[in-house]
Amino acid sequence: MALINLKTFDQQIKAATPAMAQYFEIKKLYPDNLLFYRMGDFYEMFFEDALIASQILGIALTKRGKQEGEDIPMCGIPAHAVDSYLPKLIRQGLKIAICEQTETPQEAKKRGYKAVVNREVVRVITPGTLTEENLLQSKSHHFLAALVKIEDQIGFSWFDISTGDFYSQNLTVDKISTHLARLIPSELLISEDLLFPNCPDFLHEWKLILSSIPSTWIARAERTLIEIYGLKDLKSLGHFTSLELSAAGVIVEYLKQTQKDALPYLSPLKRQTDQQIMDIDPATRRSLELTKNLAGNDEGNLLSVIDYTCSNPGGRKLHGWLNHPLLDCSIILERQDGVQFFIDQKKLREELRQILKHYPDMPRALSRLMLNRNSPRDLGIIKTTVNIGKKIQSLFVSLKELPDFFTKILKVLDCHSDLCDLLEKALIIDLPMTLKDGHIIAAGYDQTLDEWRNVRDNSKKIILELESTYKQQFDAPFIKIKYNNILGYYLEATVIQVEKLKKSPYYDHLIHRQTLANNLRFTTIDLKALEEKINAAIDKVQELESHIFYALVHSVKNHSQTLSELADVLATLDVFSALAFLAEEKRYCRPIVDESTAFLIEAGRHPVVEEYLERNQQRFIPNNCDLGDQQKLWLVTGPNMAGKSTFLRQNALIAILAQIGSFVPAKKAHIGIITKLFSRVGASDDLARGQSTFMVEMVETASILNQANNRSLVILDEIGRGTATFDGLSIAWAVLEYLHNVNQCRTLFSTHYHELTNLTSSLNKLACYSMKVKEWQDHIVFLHEVIAGSSDRSYGLYVGRIAGLPKVVLHKAQQILTYLESDASLKSLKNDGPDFPLFQSRTVDVSPSSFSQSELEKAVHKINVDELSPRQALDTIYMLKDILKNKES
Ligand code: ATP
Repeated sequence: MALINLKTFDQQIKAATPAMAQYFEIKKLYPDNLLFYRMGDFYEMFFEDALIASQILGIALTKRGKQEGEDIPMCGIPAHAVDSYLPKLIRQGLKIAICEQTETPQEAKKRGYKAVVNREVVRVITPGTLTEENLLQSKSHHFLAALVKIEDQIGFSWFDISTGDFYSQNLTVDKISTHLARLIPSELLISEDLLFPNCPDFLHEWKLILSSIPSTWIARAERTLIEIYGLKDLKSLGHFTSLELSAAGVIVEYLKQTQKDALPYLSPLKRQTDQQIMDIDPATRRSLELTKNLAGNDEGNLLSVIDYTCSNPGGRKLHGWLNHPLLDCSIILERQDGVQFFIDQKKLREELRQILKHYPDMPRALSRLMLNRNSPRDLGIIKTTVNIGKKIQSLFVSLKELPDFFTKILKVLDCHSDLCDLLEKALIIDLPMTLKDGHIIAAGYDQTLDEWRNVRDNSKKIILELESTYKQQFDAPFIKIKYNNILGYYLEATVIQVEKLKKSPYYDHLIHRQTLANNLRFTTIDLKALEEKINAAIDKVQELESHIFYALVHSVKNHSQTLSELADVLATLDVFSALAFLAEEKRYCRPIVDESTAFLIEAGRHPVVEEYLERNQQRFIPNNCDLGDQQKLWLVTGPNMAGKSTFLRQNALIAILAQIGSFVPAKKAHIGIITKLFSRVGASDDLARGQSTFMVEMVETASILNQANNRSLVILDEIGRGTATFDGLSIAWAVLEYLHNVNQCRTLFSTHYHELTNLTSSLNKLACYSMKVKEWQDHIVFLHEVIAGSSDRSYGLYVGRIAGLPKVVLHKAQQILTYLESDASLKSLKNDGPDFPLFQSRTVDVSPSSFSQSELEKAVHKINVDELSPRQALDTIYMLKDILKNKES
């Protein structure tokens, strides 16, 4: 099969047919993209593109024509179904250049009989620039990010094409992973020279989402921003470093290149700094399961249990808040006031939530309209939203006192009266998906359109009306308007009737068309005009509807900024009311958040575990935690399964919830702002990066010790477990001491190394707590209650028993444990080790030959029932029966 050789493009163009030459010319501009080449109702792919697409999409690979004597591979998909094919290709990280016909075949013919229809790439679909609803997650942002590196400094920018949110920030290389893990961009732009010769280590993990861009874009990035925002000087954007502007400019340039003539709505660029948000590194984020669980999906994560928003934009805002816990107390308090307001105003809240349930995804519709995706339904979404804005505003008018913040934001709810009236009048209720489907504009909105529609829909009636006019005018009841494919509409009269018509003063209005044996056929200027009108009506209606549609889209575009503000306010109201609903429903309290270093939680709960237990009719046991200055570091001991990890994590989650402005699952809470949160909970292998379990554990611990300060909260769940006991204990000991004396951070440290509890004598801010258990007969009851003091047992064997370890193993483990806990153990271990009987192999020798009659009873005693598998037990019974039989015979 023929393939494209990029190096010999020009020769290939020369040798190709005019149609293929056009293909080559276009493909040459998009060598790294799959070229969807519009041919009539299909998008066709050729050469390598066809091989790749047919394989991924599972569609037939055919051929079309020859190139240098070889078949050209081809495959195609119907243009109307393109959306259903895109996800598979995008998921493979492919980029697709959509090449449309930009003129009709008739128009092309006017340029010459053999002229090829003009084609142009109108859009390049890339993972970070998607707007198709079926390719986006409704409740998460979809970011396109760019990274510009100069020496050790990084400019990092991110943009959501489907909402217009646009940010930029300065970073150091070591912080890149933290920010990428927070945003999880779909595509990361990076200059080609950074990727050469190899992808740098700090981006290795993100290799699959990298897109290289020419480094020249960076040089002209600031200019690009000036042009796009229509500014004289970038200073009017606010204070940004030049690296931040470069990264933002790269994003805009990429949008220009991929979206061609249309640009999405870009909200004013916002600057973010590390001083604004809580620092949560990727390992901590993963271990706390904030927006994804450890398996990487949506079940059982924090977001899934606190999200009571009614709309997708509201859900996205809450997601964003959870990814950005704040450090500024005043903003946190403002948000708390918002939640409090809706707790106090329950009736208003419920009315608001009822309305918000009908709030469609306006930011995404607006973005599609901005990008000329031209779906009438998106216009309908704008109409519904501005109406919703009005309705919501009317809910608030009767209230006398509103928090300042609300007064500010509510202003934008009803500032689209003109647009609202316009869309109400112009649009029908049930709008079609595409412009081509027609039936968009309401009757009565445009007189000319109504007239044309009348002609299109009532042509028969209009012809009959004209016929009756002529009957009267000519005083000739016999006159008839007929139709055939050759003449079109015509008046017909017999030869005799024509004689009568000649007497009419209007006879000269008749224009002769045809004479038959008995009849004559005529037309009139009016009839001709009417015929043309009837023939043109379908096209004319479509043309007028499109024209009006584009005018409406234009009006919407003119309101893009205020519409985007409206969307933001609606999403904020959704989040406030949802958090209020959550607080009331789940008994959350308003935490005190201030600049102190307090960490006082009374009756705190783990929101996710509590939800799970409640679903299974079980109760969650609340626990207190006080990491105040006197006991900054809690050492938590206790049995396995007693709830240590749950307790540790719940406190971290409470801190995050408090700093996003939410109420928290506790009776009371006082949290002094936490700037960095670290959580190290049972690591797993990271084989892909060549790291063993213990290595991962140590890397994460090192990062905590190197970074934590007195404003940090550190959660350490069992340090040093992945190595030899004494190594592990020594590491845990030293880490604990370092955290206490050097980092001086608020810390929760759980361990099974009970020896560490002795450190309370030397570390004055270390306090020991343990998980309460009750021993009852042969059982242990986990009370899940955190109490002062330490535990000296882990009850590991008990947990092994309830987990189903074989009894013999447990029995032996108990023997070994008793021995190890005795004084003799150390001495003996240094020599040859204790002398315990070894396990026997599973096969029990009960073959008939090994038994003498007198030995039968002894043999039965010899069988170790606990070691037999069901199958071996059955075999043993048969054997014993055989022996008995032998004995009897
Ligand atoms: P290990 O030392 O084996 O890791 P652990 O002490 O960390 O165990 P967790 O994993 O926190 O124990 O908890 C075990 C189970 O106990 C949880 O899955 C939950 O079902 C239950 N649990 C934990 N805390 C509570 C609580 N406060 N109230 C009720 N149930 C709880």
